[in-house]
Amino acid sequence: MSTILLAGGAGYIGSHTAVELLNAGYDVIVVDNYANSCPESIKRVESITGKSVKLYEADVSDNAAMEKIFAENKIDAVIHFAGLKAVGESVAMPVAYYRNNIDTTLTLLETMSKFDVKNIIFSSSATVYGEANKVPYLETMPRGACTNPYGWTKSMMEQIFEDAAKADEKLSVVLLRYFNPIGAHESGRIGEDPSGIPNNLMPYVTQTAVGKRECLTIFGNDYPTKDGTCTRDYIHVVDLAKGHVKAIDYILANDKVCEIFNLGTGTPYSVTEIVETFERVNNIKVNHIYGARRPGDLAECYANADKALKVLGWKTEKTLEDMCRDSWNWQKNNPEGYGKK
Ligand code: NAD
Ligand code: UDP
Repeated sequence: MSTILLAGGAGYIGSHTAVELLNAGYDVIVVDNYANSCPESIKRVESITGKSVKLYEADVSDNAAMEKIFAENKIDAVIHFAGLKAVGESVAMPVAYYRNNIDTTLTLLETMSKFDVKNIIFSSSATVYGEANKVPYLETMPRGACTNPYGWTKSMMEQIFEDAAKADEKLSVVLLRYFNPIGAHESGRIGEDPSGIPNNLMPYVTQTAVGKRECLTIFGNDYPTKDGTCTRDYIHVVDLAKGHVKAIDYILANDKVCEIFNLGTGTPYSVTEIVETFERVNNIKVNHIYGARRPGDLAECYANADKALKVLGWKTEKTLEDMCRDSWNWQKNNPEGYGKK
């Protein structure tokens, strides 16, 4: 069976993808510097699947460390999750974001070229559609103007991958544009474990429900949407992980590809709908107030997910209720996440 290297694989999406790849029979190697994770997530991946993962602690932008990993293993494909992802932090520390996110990408491409590894899948984001495109977003739309340095790193990395694929007749690239991943593995053993005060909605909701945060502020209720709060395309992280398995099957089955896929459900939900569904499904209160808009937020963001169905044979299976139930199951079983990072 083929061997897949997950760069940044100890994180939230990488750990769930590791489970689904192992369940599908792939061998998995993880490299991570634990900038935003810890090795415990991979221990739990092993206990969920009953299979082992080869784990390396290294910075993905370190050429020597990456060459060692590629020399020691026969790698068939790489999935590049490694990156810094906090939007607000990227505004405060743009240089660190450009350095980390772009450097990891360049080092991976250089090392792959040296060791003749020809397949890479990249964690991109719906943020690259920018402000000017109209929802639902289609892969054929041009990348737009991003509202923060994090978004620009994704846009620039997509460009780097497309240019590299143009120049190398054997290099295959799949760019996966994620919408809003939430939820956790149904075992409640792996999930999202943000450091400090969460920026994203669902971890803020679960931490409020568990009593770690006093009150959720819903950012704005005067948007031109169904109930005035922003709408997003929330996707269960296990559905997202399965999308990666389909993308791996696809990239390994084809000689040369360079394709973009939206990974979303195609259905937008508002912030108020998320809070109400979470409260109903889990029978728990989430203290919340309505506050000012958050700068940079778009009113609506959701996918046209037809291409992933047509080409990869992938579509989401889980409901918003599943997402809310599994997020809470992870939070209440692991009130401190994985513990000390
Ligand atoms: P995460 O922070 O949980 O995972 C990223 C992992 O990369 C972490 O384990 C971190 O330690 C590691 N990492 C960062 N820099 C590294 C480096 N230089 N060398 C080695 N490891 C490094 O985040 P996630 O939510 O799992 O996201 C995975 C990818 O998907 C990221 O690239 C992110 O930008 C992208 N993405 C995430 C979302 C989201 O909402 N979670 C949405 C769109 C895109
Ligand atoms: N949001 C909110 N309160 C919070 C965090 C987020 O109202 O504490 C809203 C935010 O305005 C957006 C949605 O929840 O409309 C999703 O935000 P998140 O940061 O999770 O993802 P984004 O879509 O911004 O990448």
